[in-house]
Amino acid sequence: MTKVEYKHTEIAVKKKLGQNFLTDRNITRKIATVSGAGPEENILEIGPGFGALTREINELCPRFTVVEKDRRLAAFIRSEYPQLNLIEGDFLEIDLEPLAREKPLRVLGNIPYSITTPILFKLLEHRRCFISATLMMQHEVAMRIVAKPSTKEYGILAVQMQAFCRIDYLFKVGRKVFRPQPGVDSAVIRMTPKEDDRIDDQKGFSRFVRTAFHQRRKTLLNNLKESYNLESVESDTLKLRAEALSIEDFFLLFRQIRPLT
Ligand code: SAH
Repeated sequence: MTKVEYKHTEIAVKKKLGQNFLTDRNITRKIATVSGAGPEENILEIGPGFGALTREINELCPRFTVVEKDRRLAAFIRSEYPQLNLIEGDFLEIDLEPLAREKPLRVLGNIPYSITTPILFKLLEHRRCFISATLMMQHEVAMRIVAKPSTKEYGILAVQMQAFCRIDYLFKVGRKVFRPQPGVDSAVIRMTPKEDDRIDDQKGFSRFVRTAFHQRRKTLLNNLKESYNLESVESDTLKLRAEALSIEDFFLLFRQIRPLT
């Protein structure tokens, strides 16, 4: 069992909670700076852990909210940063609306890699609650998010994320600056929800994108025909594979299809 100790608190590292703690102040400072944190911002940090990022954000902003699931780490944050609004709980379970009522959030965090995708999809669903989310994640996942059409990384994640947000790949972070050291490198990206993404039915669009990519090697026709009425779609388009479509193409196609009930 790996143990990590910091300021008289020792915890047994929980892999399931994606606990890899940052140890390099240059990096934590850089993340806090690029997140747009400032005294007037409404900040939400996901998974503060031992406060590596929390400390840097706190230098820029006196009061903000953090959500930590690990009981011991929540207790640590409570005693080290009594001025913060600590939610002891699961980011995936919390309601973002009340937190964003006065002002949209700026979200940031070195997020637990085990639940990266659920975190991203929760953020997409509640994209009206925040103006930016600056997130550190597995490098490989970041590459899948920024992928371009007709590459092997391009898939459901890229299309969903790029459809609803502007994505900036900010920088790569090597595995050596974490304790315990993960087996993979990391990267920091920023997602900025588009003001007008022209899709009202996000759930429907998500379902459509997932169906289109269901079997990557198959044509759109074969992936879609059982779930959608495709009458209004040009037959040339249907001969393509999902991976060939740009985000714009996906929007267009989504407007032409009708779910079969
Ligand atoms: N920000 C810290 C810790 C990153 S590790 C640093 O950079 O050093 C990820 C953190 O997220 C851990 O503290 C872990 O306990 C916490 N965490 C894991 N799952 C969570 C969840 N569902 N909701 C909130 N926090 C979670």
